[in-house]
Amino acid sequence: MESRISGHTKLYCLIGSPVGHSGSPAMYNYSFERTGIDAAYLAFNIPLEETEKAVQALKTLGVGGFNVTMPDKTAVASYLDALSPAAKLIGACNTVTVGEDGKLTGHNTDGMGFVRNLHEHGIEVKGKRLVVLGAGGAATAICVQAALDGAAEIAIFNRGQGDFFPNGQRTVEKLRQAVPACRASITPLEDKDALARAVADCDILVNATRVGMKPLDGETLIDPALFRPELVVADTVYNPRETRMIQEAKAAGCRAAIGGIGMLLWQGVAAFKLFTGKDMPAQEVLEKFFS
Ligand code: NAD
Repeated sequence: MESRISGHTKLYCLIGSPVGHSGSPAMYNYSFERTGIDAAYLAFNIPLEETEKAVQALKTLGVGGFNVTMPDKTAVASYLDALSPAAKLIGACNTVTVGEDGKLTGHNTDGMGFVRNLHEHGIEVKGKRLVVLGAGGAATAICVQAALDGAAEIAIFNRGQGDFFPNGQRTVEKLRQAVPACRASITPLEDKDALARAVADCDILVNATRVGMKPLDGETLIDPALFRPELVVADTVYNPRETRMIQEAKAAGCRAAIGGIGMLLWQGVAAFKLFTGKDMPAQEVLEKFFS
């Protein structure tokens, strides 16, 4: 490290709170070294109320770019100079690039990572009908990116009570305005008959809820009787690597049963490309940090 850091080394970083558990510094520093980029990556604990000051400070310091995690992902969007089309629709950023002129542009690579992960498994979203379980941050990013990438239909299912259902309704409205070619709808998750019909009619079923993730591991929202050989089943959950839903989809012989770890990898790859214009050594990073 001491031979890598010089007076010219560019700083990249992660802001959010907490960040101590993040795997991003290891992943980016390894990738900078492997690709010969003179840069270093740190994580800064920035609570929500400090987001604006942190953005100004990073601008003053002339960082190369930064990632944003919870709880700052939504707030950060209002302190940037521009947003990518996806970030604008999602209303949240996880990657901020800095132009030659110092202009800050917000991007959201979560949806890009999900779509790329499907692609790496031989599945394209263009023309496909998706059922998305959940209406939080990950679900919104996936719905927006899939719609922008040409999905024919997105049917969101979320619990009827609580803040997330109205958030899903806003996503549906935004998609109807911005991507009218994609049919978008939202239905309460409690309507089991509607869910069964939607799963029977769709190409790709996505779990973007916390169900399946610790402490809800061992739980699933989908009756395995709904699985069939043509169906693609994808989870956003990566801890555990294989959720019960993914295990049951595999056992039922679904066309593909894809866990969430690839989404995490590919969102990082997309951010690295935005930061540096170079490809992260994805396979090496997968083996070294994600297996
Ligand atoms: P969030 O808090 O924004 O949204 C949580 C969602 O889960 C909401 O739709 C909520 O209604 C739903 N939910 C929570 N408990 C539920 C229950 N018991 N039954 C039904 N629905 C329930 O969280 P998020 O950031 O959108 O994360 C959602 C999932 O996506 C998490 O499992 C997270 O691990 C995963 N995720 C994965 C990646 C990746 O790169 N693979 C990235 C971001 C999030």
